[in-house]
Amino acid sequence: MDEEEEEDESNLSLQTSEEAVKDGMPENKSPKQRLSYEFTRQAFTRGKPHMVVCSLCKRDGHLKKDCPEDFKKVQLEPLPPITSDFLGRLDKVCEQCYTDFAPDELEVGVREHILQDVENFVRRQFAGARLQLFGSSKNGYGFRQSDLDICMVLEGQDTIPDAECITIIESLARLLRKHPGLKNILPSLRPKYPL
Ligand SMILES: [Zn+2]
Repeated sequence: MDEEEEEDESNLSLQTSEEAVKDGMPENKSPKQRLSYEFTRQAFTRGKPHMVVCSLCKRDGHLKKDCPEDFKKVQLEPLPPITSDFLGRLDKVCEQCYTDFAPDELEVGVREHILQDVENFVRRQFAGARLQLFGSSKNGYGFRQSDLDICMVLEGQDTIPDAECITIIESLARLLRKHPGLKNILPSLRPKYPL
């Protein structure tokens, strides 16, 4: 049952009673007071229907199955043939994105500098280590201030058993914690690509 499904129509009713007698307070010798709590729909909602919230668009008043913004149900009109004017505008937007958001030469230089610095540091303990940038830094889809995906290769070792990789990652984490420019070093051994 989905979270937003209507609750069962039958009224939930649960009663508890409690003896509200305070021990060790001699002045409170009044007759035992009985409290009764009723967990009924009426008690929770005062008779108002409960709010239904759509888990897809987060608006209230309908469930996901009735969501008007469910694209799977919207019949899309076929697009008209593309015009050269539209194509030109699309090109301009893409070029503008590039000039606005691509990392500049300075940032690219800083990235390479960080890489070299970390590599020098790592090689103190892992003599054959080489660091390489991959991902957005290298594939052209990187933005300014994007993260820095770095992979470490140990020269002369084409394959390393998984158990050994874990030991290497753990000792690498211990080493990187000593680097003055690095913070929050957390070895992550579970993902598909251990980091
Ligand atoms: Zn909705």
